[in-house]
Amino acid sequence: MGVLIKLLLIAFLFIGSIWGLKSEIKIIGYISLFLSLYVLNEGFGFHLFTKITLALVLGVLIAWSGFFLNADLEVIRPVGSKIFMNCLTMALVPLVFSSIVTGVTNLSDINKLQSIGLRTIVYYIATTIIAISLGLLLANIFQPGDNLAPEVKMQFEQTFNQSAQAKVATAQDNKQTLFEGLQAIFPSNIFHAISQDKPNMLQLIFFAVICGVALLKMDTKMAKPVISLFSGITEMTIKIVLIVMRLAPYGVFALIASTVASTGGTQLLLALVPFSLIVVIALFIHAVGTNSISLIFLSKKSPVWFFSKVKEVAITAFSTSSSGATMPLTLEVVEDDLKVKNEVAGFVVPLGATINMDGTALFQGVSVIFLANIYGVDLTFIDQLTVISLAVMASIGTAAVPGVGIVILTMILVSIDVPAEAILFILPVNNLLDMCRTTTNVMGDMTCAVYINSTMKKI
Ligand code: ASP
Repeated sequence: MGVLIKLLLIAFLFIGSIWGLKSEIKIIGYISLFLSLYVLNEGFGFHLFTKITLALVLGVLIAWSGFFLNADLEVIRPVGSKIFMNCLTMALVPLVFSSIVTGVTNLSDINKLQSIGLRTIVYYIATTIIAISLGLLLANIFQPGDNLAPEVKMQFEQTFNQSAQAKVATAQDNKQTLFEGLQAIFPSNIFHAISQDKPNMLQLIFFAVICGVALLKMDTKMAKPVISLFSGITEMTIKIVLIVMRLAPYGVFALIASTVASTGGTQLLLALVPFSLIVVIALFIHAVGTNSISLIFLSKKSPVWFFSKVKEVAITAFSTSSSGATMPLTLEVVEDDLKVKNEVAGFVVPLGATINMDGTALFQGVSVIFLANIYGVDLTFIDQLTVISLAVMASIGTAAVPGVGIVILTMILVSIDVPAEAILFILPVNNLLDMCRTTTNVMGDMTCAVYINSTMKKI
């Protein structure tokens, strides 16, 4: 098919979709929308990154025009939130388990495992502290909540109070002390840990490490076939991810269009511009600046090389808002493109996707100052130190899934005398900021993998 015919076909389908969305038979509109995206994606031999970027841009455009078309774009969200994300995560449990088992057995020495484990955890905690301190610093300088007019405050309360209450209730259900969090790492039954809707990744990681150690201590003749089986499973699950990524442009389109469309209420959004800008700028500084410093000084690698390899992972994290769902792709890119040894990547990436949330912690820092401003609470230096330690502990103990950052925030707020319901002031922009902080979270995991890989010769 010639280029002109393809363009005409896209135009025809697109006009068809506009007509469909405006009419009573909206289903025609939704179907033509995806068909035009299909022709655009498959017809021009674009690279995957270009396809996803196009889907992102088109998703935003459709969401904006959706306001005029009066179309309910929530209808197409499941193409992204269910079909694409479920396909991406369906092999997560076997992938995490097998990659850690093969990683640990490839190390062939338990002392090496201890050394890598310790370095990884110290690195993750240090970068999370840097991230939240950066957030607190910028928010302290710019005080984003100072100028919110009383009538705008009232409007926020009227519009978002109910959804805020629901989130607070979720946070209360998930509340646990540090000691309870520690106990939760040890599974009583691994099948129970992984068979829930949201598998318990920390328990899975713990069990996988123990299995790897046991295999290292076993008779080689007995251990060998088990190890080969798991390395085969790792390869297989990574291939599954590559197949599923072909769905990415459609999933991303649906996620972005519905997310942007659901962020209504322009006046309230405008009131949140200063706060959102500080979060986004701080996330950018951390993702690019802090990670570049780590790459140059700790790993002796070029940031340009790094960022040119991780584009696809970044855009997937951005559009899925889930480090967990992005994890299989992260692992693939870290091993194949960033050339990190399997024994490092297999351990550092799943652990990072579970416990390392730089972007989320940074978001907590800015949000806490913003909300304290609104509620007229003065935060002392000690209060801010409490915020740092709570955010670090919470990011370790909570699963990396969409929106978890706001749940963590409610727990932190209570400890500094700001009511948990205060999150209602952040809800309108939460989904958009979640996309940005997830990207920063995943960047941190990959930078850590490169760093640990660079220390391997010294171990
Ligand atoms: N969605 C984020 C992640 O998966 C967590 C959050 O900040 O809500 O990394």
